[in-house]
Amino acid sequence: MSKTSEFILEVKNLKKYFPAGRPGWFSRREEFVHAVDGVDLQLERGEVIALVGESGCGKSTLALTLMLLEEATEGSILFEGSDVTRLNEKGKKALRQKIQMVFQDPYESLNPTQTIEEIVAEPLVVHGLALRANERRSRVLRALEDSGLKPAEDFLHRFPHQLSGGQRQRVVIAGALVLEPHLLLADEPVSMLDVSIRAEIINLLADLRRTRNISVIFITHDLGTVGYFADRVAVMYLGRIVEIGAMREVLEDPKHPYTQALLSVIPVPNPRMRKKRLILQGETPNPIDLPAGCRFHPRCPVAIEACKQNDPALTNISTTHQAACLLLQQ
Ligand code: SF4
Repeated sequence: MSKTSEFILEVKNLKKYFPAGRPGWFSRREEFVHAVDGVDLQLERGEVIALVGESGCGKSTLALTLMLLEEATEGSILFEGSDVTRLNEKGKKALRQKIQMVFQDPYESLNPTQTIEEIVAEPLVVHGLALRANERRSRVLRALEDSGLKPAEDFLHRFPHQLSGGQRQRVVIAGALVLEPHLLLADEPVSMLDVSIRAEIINLLADLRRTRNISVIFITHDLGTVGYFADRVAVMYLGRIVEIGAMREVLEDPKHPYTQALLSVIPVPNPRMRKKRLILQGETPNPIDLPAGCRFHPRCPVAIEACKQNDPALTNISTTHQAACLLLQQ
């Protein structure tokens, strides 16, 4: 994985389906949950992208597939210019030094019987790095400092229950940083934290991008949490990216009706800036039995008859939803 590429990550037509049932009395065909269903995504070095969508839209499965914790059903993943879609176990282990994940729940992620030093050093031990004790400790100290736990020495011998929720999430981030990754996949990293601490963790990730040039995929169901921290935003619905663009542009002028609905329910302190709330009708369709045409049509407030037959596949950055919808309506 030594080739250079302008993109740290290139995902092409990525699909991840889970078996949901074999042919039988009620169905003649094998069924699948279409968790990720044709995702195209490119990420530059040092870029932060927010991956946004409702629970169950496939964003976490996408992250697990990028980490090779789930095997892709179809499509390809290029990391730093090399195809890593189907690496063997040795290759996967090497890749996971460069791509690290930060999970949602800092309470579940930390072993309560280990000290903070043991927790943060564990990835080094697993990967056979920094074998000498003093070298290991200095990497742990640097990771703790960079995660905002200062002075780092004060935290080495503490246990998770002696820390606040925000400090625990910083320990989780330190455990990822200790391997000096190039890409962080942060899966709802602030959703379990108090509102007052969320901004601190987001600022920390922003600092890491600046100081370590780390790329970040920030997964969230709440577009309001990422604000202007991310460079771009990708909005997912039922396994697909339906809108992608520069954060500011999408926040100020969302094109896709689903993005418009997500944005309309974000609380805005200034009453003059408030937009009319757009509440989507109906449930998200079953990912086993997807609707024909545009998969958003059963809930889309501006759907037309043609939407039931045509799927605009809005994964191309240069194609706006409006243009695609206009094409449909011709
Ligand atoms: Fe709505 Fe039709 Fe556009 Fe889909 S293609 S988002 S149903 S207008």
